[in-house]
Amino acid sequence: MVLRRVAIIGAGISGLTAGCAFKQKGITVDIFERSGSIYEFGAGITLSRNATLLLGELGLFDSISARGFSPMGSFIRDYKSAKVISSINLDENFITIDRRDLVQQLANSFQELGGNIFLNNKIESIDPSKGILNSSANNEMEYDLILICDGINSSFRSRFFDQYTPRFTGFVAWRGMTTVNKLPQHEGSLKANVYYGPGAHFVHYPTGLDNKVNFIAIERSKIWSEESWKIEGDKSDLIKSLEGWDQELVSMVESTDKLYKWGIFERPLPRRLFSKKCVLLGDAAHPMVPFLGQGGCMAIEDAYCLSSLMFKIEDTYEALVMYDKLRNRRSKWIQRRSRLQGMFNHISNPFLVPIRNLIVKFSMRRSVERIHSYDLISELPLELDHG
Ligand SMILES: Cc1cc2nc3c(=O)[nH]c(=O)nc-3n(C[C@H](O)[C@H](O)[C@H](O)COP(=O)(O)OP(=O)(O)OC[C@H]3O[C@@H](n4cnc5c(N)ncnc54)[C@H](O)[C@@H]3O)c2cc1C
Repeated sequence: MVLRRVAIIGAGISGLTAGCAFKQKGITVDIFERSGSIYEFGAGITLSRNATLLLGELGLFDSISARGFSPMGSFIRDYKSAKVISSINLDENFITIDRRDLVQQLANSFQELGGNIFLNNKIESIDPSKGILNSSANNEMEYDLILICDGINSSFRSRFFDQYTPRFTGFVAWRGMTTVNKLPQHEGSLKANVYYGPGAHFVHYPTGLDNKVNFIAIERSKIWSEESWKIEGDKSDLIKSLEGWDQELVSMVESTDKLYKWGIFERPLPRRLFSKKCVLLGDAAHPMVPFLGQGGCMAIEDAYCLSSLMFKIEDTYEALVMYDKLRNRRSKWIQRRSRLQGMFNHISNPFLVPIRNLIVKFSMRRSVERIHSYDLISELPLELDHG
């Protein structure tokens, strides 16, 4: 089948990156987004080399990194004394950015390439055999391929792929933004900083423009009883949870205007990432706990991988089989690794903490490097050679 028209459900990181990648190959691409705006909530995101390399190859990196920040390193610290447990050097391929800027840059690039984004267009139903979709704007349209990029609660995945539902992981994330002048005055505060505390950890990094700083605090919670996976949080609750933590860190939290609280959910990968003319990307395919900062990076890897295979392999079915093989393997591993990192980051047993800290000191660098050094551009031709 010759690929001429592609529909994408969802204008998040996966949908927009895939949109750019397919547009660059001369395909007609329509993105349908149920919201009236794609410009998300204010929060930071880190993108590591495994993803930024691909953004570079797609010609998207320069405009994105111009709005972001290169922390050039990361410190892991003790929650109380802020003493450095371990440090990692990072290069300019590791960036931090406000998600709104990332999504805006991706959307700008997609539209400059001639792609269409239809806002307020919730896709109500699809027919995977025919490639037909129906939107809330009452349109029925037919495409050669439908990319399902509708996020962790993907309704189309439930309808056409498997019965797994998102599972609450027992972790809650608090996210807030403040400004660089509110950062703790420890040496290296402008880098990515991670604090390990009993049963919790805290991360902060600058996001680039406007001297903004993003912070995330993750703690354990037995239940998530909210209907939504994201709610506005009460600052005093977080400050109470941070009792005994470095005072400068607590002051930084106090300086924020608004805090959001996320229930952290996970969903195992389906047996297969495609069904007839439909294929899953990003969180719809493999939502993961955020402890390695890889969910968005995996979405970018998915987009690059799928668009490349579609043009390297003539037969669409064969291309989808290869996509499934490569992305299932990689995202399953990252999903597992992220879960393990979660156990590691949240150790509270005082006898295990020094052992954990020793392991971090001597092996963190290698472990991070293994994830960030994955090079899909080099791997694809090798995989294609091996069939
Ligand atoms: C606390 C936290 C911190 C994180 N930090 C990082 C990090 O540092 N680095 C990193 O790489 N990742 C990080 N992630 C993960 C990352 O945010 C996600 O993996 C990524 O945003 C997924 O993008 P997506 O496009 O697949 O899905 P989404 O961003 O969820 O986009 C899905 C889109 O589909 C739309 N949609 C849904 N249904 C329909 C429909 N029927 N019709 C039309 N549109 C529809 C939605 O409105 C939405 O816009 C973090 C996640 C969390 C929770």
